[in-house]
Amino acid sequence: MIVGEQIKVVDITDKPVTINPNSQSGKIYVRSVLGPIETIRRYIGFVFLGIFALLPWVKYQGHQAILLDFAAQRFHLFGLTLWPQDLMIFAWIFIIGAFALFFATVVLGRVWCGFTCPQTVFTFLFVWIEERIEGTRNKRIHLDKQDISLNKAGKKITKHGLWWLVSLLTSLTFVGYFTPVDKLFVEFLSLDISALSFGFVLFFAACTYANAGWMRELMCTHICPYSRFQSSMFDNDTLTVTYDRARGEGRGPRPRKMSQLEYNQKGLGDCIDCQLCVQVCPTGIDIRNGLQYECINCGKCIDACNDVMTKMGYRHNLISYTSQTEIAGKKSKLIRPKVIGYFVVLMVILSAMVIDISTRKPLDIDLIRDRASLYKETIDGDLENVYTLVIRNKSQKQQSFHIDIEGLAVKEIIGKRQVSVAGSELVSYPISIIVDPSSLSSSVTQFNISVSNDDSDTVTEQITFLSY
Ligand code: SF4
Ligand code: SF4
Repeated sequence: MIVGEQIKVVDITDKPVTINPNSQSGKIYVRSVLGPIETIRRYIGFVFLGIFALLPWVKYQGHQAILLDFAAQRFHLFGLTLWPQDLMIFAWIFIIGAFALFFATVVLGRVWCGFTCPQTVFTFLFVWIEERIEGTRNKRIHLDKQDISLNKAGKKITKHGLWWLVSLLTSLTFVGYFTPVDKLFVEFLSLDISALSFGFVLFFAACTYANAGWMRELMCTHICPYSRFQSSMFDNDTLTVTYDRARGEGRGPRPRKMSQLEYNQKGLGDCIDCQLCVQVCPTGIDIRNGLQYECINCGKCIDACNDVMTKMGYRHNLISYTSQTEIAGKKSKLIRPKVIGYFVVLMVILSAMVIDISTRKPLDIDLIRDRASLYKETIDGDLENVYTLVIRNKSQKQQSFHIDIEGLAVKEIIGKRQVSVAGSELVSYPISIIVDPSSLSSSVTQFNISVSNDDSDTVTEQITFLSY
């Protein structure tokens, strides 16, 4: 149903629908399906899981390439070391991710949900394991109806054991992004792990097991906020999984050999009402009821229906990735105001992030005035101000830093003017500046402290020298 510029998304809880045959006692038994879309999703899932599992093990310049070390407040991203002061870069990354998602959603609908969302990838992996142990959909329904027996208990224990194994490996890998991964695996496997790390591993393993093993579609339909606001990004040219109602209705069974003319004369369309599109749906909906927010655009129903169409000798794509414009018999436009708008914003933010990172200096300083005294008078009658200088080496190699002072007639500096700092480390030390009071024209003098490395990267901070 088309409303203005947006597609109306139906909440199936608002309207009466036929009882979902995919659900038995509230549990969804997903039927497996093979087809081109399923194959693409499996490849994407393998790539996603491969990247997730291998990335923490990648080394760069002898260090873990990606390590979000919260304990040390340092985030290593290949050659970059980010400190809490650099959170703007993380903000860029999140904003870019959000706009990339919006852009993809306007063009391809909920492609993120159906193909790359970790919830979907892990749920499909867990369902795949379930099917290997307990069998096809019908066998699983039958098994669940049986009284407990050795065979049933064996299958359930094996399935849950494998789910826990996958969950633990997932959790160890995930926690390995926040703490050195090789050490974590060794400590966990040798049971010589701190209570905190063990707690985190168990917590994330339990989350994976509960989400992918038990909650599954409930996460998409009741918890994830994205399903609720996705329709605001859709327009009539957005690709969504759609049932061609005009071609499919009225639905109903018929002999395979019945000609189109014959079944049309009986008031039947191309849908044979086999329910396979419902049985393969991971969220348990019937796409023939219209676009629903529960639909994650996974395309399983397309593969299932195309299979049926092939067997019946009918045209494919009774259910397909299509737009409302195409359903109305017109040609969809790829280039349209919403798409251009999201693309331009995405490019602007991306450029801003590239400029921010490329102009970023590999050092950072903080200069803090000693709060205990405004100034001190030396026995020679000079004035002394005390500061604490913090120098952060944001590169991953050792650097030497040189300190310069401008805008103040300094008589003497007590404290290091040359300091060497290891990669990704900081030094903090007091520095005293002594000035002849006759060179000062006011009680507050602004001056600059500059810190430079051997590559002439310089950071300057302005601060005040106080006198009487
Ligand atoms: S799979 Fe196709 S033919 Fe079968 S019920 Fe669904 S839409 Fe109709
Ligand atoms: S309706 Fe089709 S595309 Fe939507 S979630 Fe169900 S199987 Fe996937």
